[in-house]
Amino acid sequence: MKEAIIMAGIEGHPRTGWIEVICGPMFSGKTEELIRRLKRAQIAKQKVAIFKPKLDNRYDATKIVSHSHSEIHSIVIEKPAEILHHAIFAQVIGIDEAQFFSNDLIDIVTRLASAGKRVIIAGLDKDYRSTPFEPIPQLLAEAEYITKTLAICMRCGAPANFTQRLTPSKDRVLIGATDIYEARCRHCYEAPVNEEEK
Ligand code: ADP
Ligand code: MG
Ligand code: ZN
Repeated sequence: MKEAIIMAGIEGHPRTGWIEVICGPMFSGKTEELIRRLKRAQIAKQKVAIFKPKLDNRYDATKIVSHSHSEIHSIVIEKPAEILHHAIFAQVIGIDEAQFFSNDLIDIVTRLASAGKRVIIAGLDKDYRSTPFEPIPQLLAEAEYITKTLAICMRCGAPANFTQRLTPSKDRVLIGATDIYEARCRHCYEAPVNEEEK
């Protein structure tokens, strides 16, 4: 099988691989934290490969950028399997906006970790309806290390675990930033109406 050959060629120490997941609502610093960990690995001269889904077109296609404007070079891919081709020699693999990938990502990152890679994944754990956003929940179950990031509620200043959509669109994926979304705490979050249309 083609993929088996690719995996056999992957460099790494099978006892060193693991999965880290950084998750939380929008504006909670997931990308910032991902970039911080990847830059530290680069400083230590580790080989790093960073991926993001093609869908995320908020910023330049060749880098991941946080809302606070820190950035790092990245490779844009459409399908999780593409990571296998690009990450053969990487020791550390970063993946941003992982909620936009299919569930195929679960198997791919599990195999990379088993092959000795450190895989760091950042993504939304819930959508704007506060519903779990696959494949992040499944990745949390696979991960050795989990970091939950919180933003600050734009209404009251409390820790915010919810992404409030400010427009009536019902598409699960609607790319935007502070123009369409706001961080909210449990008490200030208002669940979208028309739930029966879900
Ligand atoms: P994420 O990847 O989780 O969406 P980023 O790492 O891209 O988050 O951005 C985090 C940055 O967003 C913060 O450092 C801050 O500059 C900015 N920001 C904007 N709105 C908020 C908010 N409500 N709470 C916290 N940070 C916010
Ligand atoms: Mg982000
Ligand atoms: Zn609040």
